[in-house]
Amino acid sequence: MRATPAHTEATRQLTICNACRYCEGLCAVFPAVAQHRVLTPGSLDYLANLCHSCSACYYACQYAPPHPFAVNVPQVLAELRSESCARYAWPRSLAACFHRNGLLVALAVAAAVGCFLAGFVAIHDRAILFAAHTGPGAFYRLLPHSAMVALFGSVFAFAALAMALSVRAFWHATGGGAVTAADLLAGGAAAVTLKYLDGGGGGCGTEERPSDRRRLYHHSTFFGFLLCFASTSLAAILHNGLGWQAPYAWYNPVVLLGVLGGLGLLLGPAGLLHAKKTRDPRLSDSRARGMEVGFLVILLLTSGSGLLLLLLRTTPAMGILLALHLGVVFALFLLFPYGKFVHGLYRYAALVRSAREARLRTQGSEHSNGQQQV
Ligand code: SF4
Ligand code: SF4
Repeated sequence: MRATPAHTEATRQLTICNACRYCEGLCAVFPAVAQHRVLTPGSLDYLANLCHSCSACYYACQYAPPHPFAVNVPQVLAELRSESCARYAWPRSLAACFHRNGLLVALAVAAAVGCFLAGFVAIHDRAILFAAHTGPGAFYRLLPHSAMVALFGSVFAFAALAMALSVRAFWHATGGGAVTAADLLAGGAAAVTLKYLDGGGGGCGTEERPSDRRRLYHHSTFFGFLLCFASTSLAAILHNGLGWQAPYAWYNPVVLLGVLGGLGLLLGPAGLLHAKKTRDPRLSDSRARGMEVGFLVILLLTSGSGLLLLLLRTTPAMGILLALHLGVVFALFLLFPYGKFVHGLYRYAALVRSAREARLRTQGSEHSNGQQQV
């Protein structure tokens, strides 16, 4: 892999960090830097995705600008992180989707909603959009259940394949190697708890007012997404296993999970958008702003349109809202491998690698202690 200017700059800065070591206890990045004395483009991509952008090292750094060393680790790793999203995209020809990603999100949502509206009208007639539909199977009067399953099943399968191959490329480029169940679990625990977003214990954010708010918003987004996924999976089980057709009563677990998930997916992305607006611009990659904002907006549209559909599902607005919700969700699935979502997968892979390196270090020191005793 050819090094980019961001790789070169990260090598310069992390070489200074390796000599300084002041930030060793802040997160997993600095101990990992010490393990990678030779910084290859692959190992730098690993370190970039291990960074949670808490900014603690920037505010702690005696070599940060205006010092001539100009060390700004959060920014240079943010640049590498956004570059790495495109670098490992599958298929490679779609890596260009990461350039002007915000525009792509807007076009994909508009096109998908337009196609669902046109599809409803083509299957029936224009009046179907403005009529009230109630009772079991109301949604399927606009679009048959089999067509929904075929559309969403295929786009989800493609997205899952593309993301799996992207993560595989990332894993090999960053060093490969076998992992144990314990590595996977330790990486998962660090990912779910966002262990390294706490700024080394002092909180994440600005120098004046570090707080845990970004962690709260990330958690709200993550668990909101999981609850929505659980709601959709349960709906599929009820439909196929028991023959229960949506829409369901408000007290049905499908609806309760969906409402809780939808609220989480409103609070989290809205908070992250606000945090992005107030964040010190010196600490982020300005080129990735469209991708980051685009992803948060599509999540907000997903939850907002879903909750609105639930509220107005017995009114004549249901047809338009169903097209809006299905279109947004379809675009979200389609863009999973070509937007900010993939950084979560690379981060998990980086955390697994970090857990693996920690295990190998421990095994290595136990081995050498044993040899000394012999
Ligand atoms: S960020 Fe600054 S203070 Fe921290 S290890 Fe690097 S050079 Fe040292
Ligand atoms: S920004 Fe936070 S997570 Fe990233 S390297 Fe600095 S201290 Fe570690």
